[in-house]
Amino acid sequence: MSKAGIYLHIPFCRSRCSYCDFATDVYKSGAAVERYVSALTKEIEIFSQKETIDTIYFGGGTPSLLTPKQLEKILDSVYKKFSVDETAEITMEMNPATVTLETLQAYKNLGVNRASFGAQTFDDTELKRLGRKHTAQDVRETIELLRNADFDNVSFDLIAGLPRQTLQDWERNLDGALKLKPEHLSLYLLEIHEATPLAEQIRSGRQPLPDEDLAAEMYELMLEKVPIEGFRQYEISNFSLPNFESKHNSKYWTLDAVFGFGCSAHSFDGENRRWANERDTLRYFELIEKQTSAIVEQVEISTKSEYLFLGLRLTKVV
Ligand code: SF4
Repeated sequence: MSKAGIYLHIPFCRSRCSYCDFATDVYKSGAAVERYVSALTKEIEIFSQKETIDTIYFGGGTPSLLTPKQLEKILDSVYKKFSVDETAEITMEMNPATVTLETLQAYKNLGVNRASFGAQTFDDTELKRLGRKHTAQDVRETIELLRNADFDNVSFDLIAGLPRQTLQDWERNLDGALKLKPEHLSLYLLEIHEATPLAEQIRSGRQPLPDEDLAAEMYELMLEKVPIEGFRQYEISNFSLPNFESKHNSKYWTLDAVFGFGCSAHSFDGENRRWANERDTLRYFELIEKQTSAIVEQVEISTKSEYLFLGLRLTKVV
């Protein structure tokens, strides 16, 4: 039987990207992060099941805004509550220009063995338009820091179909990413979410609506180019070198149990029950600090139909 995974949501970012609809707050003070870490560890401690897990995933938000001490505190509570496989994949999402060599080495020493970071594009104008606070050079420097800190399992996210992005721009981005030789690539098509600044910019005509046909051409170009460098596509948006598939993300597509902690985290028991936590950070604090569950939604699902649906995302038969 497959082992379960743990997802830990860290809802803080340096700034808000124009296309983002994740549950995340702009980082204002270390005190808010401290309060959150305490709530998160409390939520883990009051979790009722004892499970064996082989993946831990810090997602966000920007988990690399955690200090090593905060990370250690969270991991301690996970290790106390769960039986963690010795070879567990421990991933941390990072944003360029949020880490130093010292913090990366400290994360590594605490057991983080996979880094997933949001490059998004190698074009500084596009980065600015998206409201991202880093440059393409920051991406290059971050991967160098990761290699110097002995990370040998690194993934990049890139987004295709950005407003005003041409096929040639996208090709340059793919080349830029491949040149840095990551072990894994997540390549997404831009989605426009209601209530984001980007949706408003498009509505008011300040940005053009992304062209769907062009996005399809970008997807095809990616399918042509990426395998040449030895990457294998194993899911609609995910490519890896052999044996570097994301073990954690694969659990979502093969319907293995994943227990989520933190605001907006979702969980699945591996059988037929899904549940979701409160999305708002302040409300999450209140619930956990009152020793109440943060779960605000629960549903029973038909595993068979979800299995079929999610299996369609994968390239292998599950
Ligand atoms: S860094 Fe990621 S999570 Fe944070 S605002 Fe930007 S897209 Fe959203």
